[in-house]
Amino acid sequence: MNLTERDRQFLWHPYTQHKTAALPIAIKKGKGALLWDENDNEYIDAIASWWVNPFGHSNVFIADAIYKQLTTLEHVLFGGFTHEPAIVLAEKLMEILPKNQQKIFFSDNGSTAVEVAIKVGLQYFFNKGEKKTTIIAFENAFHGDTFAAMAASGISFYTQAFEGMFIDVVRIPVPITGQEQESYDALQAVIENNNCAAFIYEPLVQGAAGMVMYEPNTLDVLMQICKQNSVLTIADEVMTGFGKTGKTFATDYLVEKPDMMCLSKALTGGTIPMAITTFTQDLFDAFYDDDINKALFHGHTFTANPTGCAAALASLELLRTNEMQDNLVRVNQKHLDFQKKVENHPRVATTRVLGVIFALEIKTETNESYYGTLRNKLYNFFIANGVILRPVGNIVYILPPYIITDEQLQKIYDVVEDALEKV
Ligand SMILES: *Cc1c(COP(=O)(O)O)cnc(C)c1O
Repeated sequence: MNLTERDRQFLWHPYTQHKTAALPIAIKKGKGALLWDENDNEYIDAIASWWVNPFGHSNVFIADAIYKQLTTLEHVLFGGFTHEPAIVLAEKLMEILPKNQQKIFFSDNGSTAVEVAIKVGLQYFFNKGEKKTTIIAFENAFHGDTFAAMAASGISFYTQAFEGMFIDVVRIPVPITGQEQESYDALQAVIENNNCAAFIYEPLVQGAAGMVMYEPNTLDVLMQICKQNSVLTIADEVMTGFGKTGKTFATDYLVEKPDMMCLSKALTGGTIPMAITTFTQDLFDAFYDDDINKALFHGHTFTANPTGCAAALASLELLRTNEMQDNLVRVNQKHLDFQKKVENHPRVATTRVLGVIFALEIKTETNESYYGTLRNKLYNFFIANGVILRPVGNIVYILPPYIITDEQLQKIYDVVEDALEKV
């Protein structure tokens, strides 16, 4: 039996209806932007393996750092103990985070980073003796699959089985071009009619919604409204963080700075699951008390795993090299050129580019559903042509590792153009 067949016996995959889904492709090896399956077929990883891999697969620099850490101190509990990799990582992050971010809390994945932010936001007001329990989020947001993160998410595919069991979340429209005032007005109304604790958002790009983009100045307005009304702001930079938008964080495009930030995905260069939630001093201070009940009683067994910290430190070092910064500019320029080439194609409804993110919306008669037929045809076409792209409904997006070569990028563009003719 090959790996794909053996997989079927015991494994349950994420976001998969096993009755109708095609069998998974067994990947045996990765290098740079390339992956190889068990039959030696080659694929370009045009989505950085769910947006986690900026520096290429099997990166030797990060692997060495991990190996060194594993053979020095692989793990120690973070309750009552600390270690150098966590301390140095916190110090390094302070150099690149917005200046108002002063405290760092570790967890394991993007969902837990969000979970921690929401819990801290709610307990912040609890500790102050104020009753504020409503969370504000965007329509079609995606913040993860654990309960509070899921409650904040607005894609029904992920949440419909659990409606009615969530914390209070009120949704406002995304301030895409033409819809800005509607979004501001909705936020004002929500704040007037509810006891709002926090507003959580994916800054500038809603990833899982299909790389929906909006302008920094509109988010600044929403954040100002929150600040004027003592509503905390949570930037979920799980997808946008570490260079994806062209700057280190999407938040770097803004004038206003958030109270909390959620980081994961590219944090460890796509190697080890780890996440961080960052906080202002003011948030930390609301938990700092002689009363033990005011402490944050949240933690995970692998909190601040030293190996994950070492991987994150190596990743940060790579991100900050001139070579990597040049890659961000180069990939962005290629995307802009490709956008010019396809934006007037009769089948293209809209296109958008920010940083290394490119998205193209294909015209359809009806709105294609998240996992609809066109989506599946496109996905299969791309795979058959050696390119891994996972369209969201009728939206095809490209988010490659930053080290992707010009030739590999060109192949992705060619396959996308080909799909516009043939699928
Ligand atoms: C992926 C993602 C999450 C969830 O991260 P996981 O590691 O999958 O739990 C949360 N927020 C955003 C914006 C994401 O893209």
